[in-house]
Amino acid sequence: MIINGLEIAKDCRAKLKEKIDKMEIKPCLAVILVGDDPASQIYVANKEKAATEVGIISKIFRLEKTTKEQDLLNLIEILNQDKNVHGILVQLPLPKEIDEKKVILAISPEKDVDGFHPMNLGKLVAGIKGLVACTPKGCLKLIKSVQSDLTGLNAIVIGRSTIVGKPMAQLLLQENCTVMMTHSKTKNLPELCQQADIVVVAVGKPNFVQGNWIKSSAIVIDVGINRLDTGKLCGDVDFNNVSCAAITPVPKGVGPMTIAMLLENTLEAFENQNS
Ligand code: NAD
Repeated sequence: MIINGLEIAKDCRAKLKEKIDKMEIKPCLAVILVGDDPASQIYVANKEKAATEVGIISKIFRLEKTTKEQDLLNLIEILNQDKNVHGILVQLPLPKEIDEKKVILAISPEKDVDGFHPMNLGKLVAGIKGLVACTPKGCLKLIKSVQSDLTGLNAIVIGRSTIVGKPMAQLLLQENCTVMMTHSKTKNLPELCQQADIVVVAVGKPNFVQGNWIKSSAIVIDVGINRLDTGKLCGDVDFNNVSCAAITPVPKGVGPMTIAMLLENTLEAFENQNS
């Protein structure tokens, strides 16, 4: 079974639109883009389009590549204070002269719709309601579209980034899975993978996970986005050689869900700020 991320994301967006259409005051998302990285420009344009379609007001701030860190921090502070802005997203990566960690820390946790602020990451670990990072949140929805009760399942997360791997492991733990968190120093990864009922891969290496690593009953979520020399996009899993219960394709798997979850988080931030 191929998990249709595009359709599931479309459903999520339709539900959001229905809710937002009924609201008198609309949620507002501020997106800050620093520099002219072509991939980031496309991501920001896609986010703006998706926000507008569901009725979220989007304010895009395009700043020069040469923007000083302090000027970016000042803009974030203005947006933190602005009661008409409910979500703030700074598109990563930032130019190397700017400290990303400092920027993430500057965003008010209540408006941190990316869920990258340590306050929101900490809440996730503590089991307190907060804004959850969009990609892992979307991955969990995809897994639950196949199987709603994950209690007791063995899950493996490959890749320990703060934006995908670590929050993903926490979400699976909350679902009562037995979670293995693996990374570049893990030994015997194929053998560990063969024991997993759920496999989430976020490494960034084309065809990294081989067909014989995956058991036939597994649910496989491929977060990786890699561009081959041919220009074609592919994930981290050797898709054509995997035989399993369910798998996400790349593209049209996790990617659309990440954007849908950003919109969901913006509505959630709005509701929290107005409750
Ligand atoms: P990252 O570079 O921050 O982390 C990669 C992780 O992979 C590291 O934790 C590292 O330990 C692990 N790793 C590297 N080599 C390994 C090996 N040989 N064995 C096991 N683990 C290994 O990357 P990231 O930001 O988490 O992104 C990972 C991939 O997911 C990238 O391709 C990225 O483009 C993609 N991504 C997609 C979305 C989406 O919306 N679809 C969102 C975020 C990231």
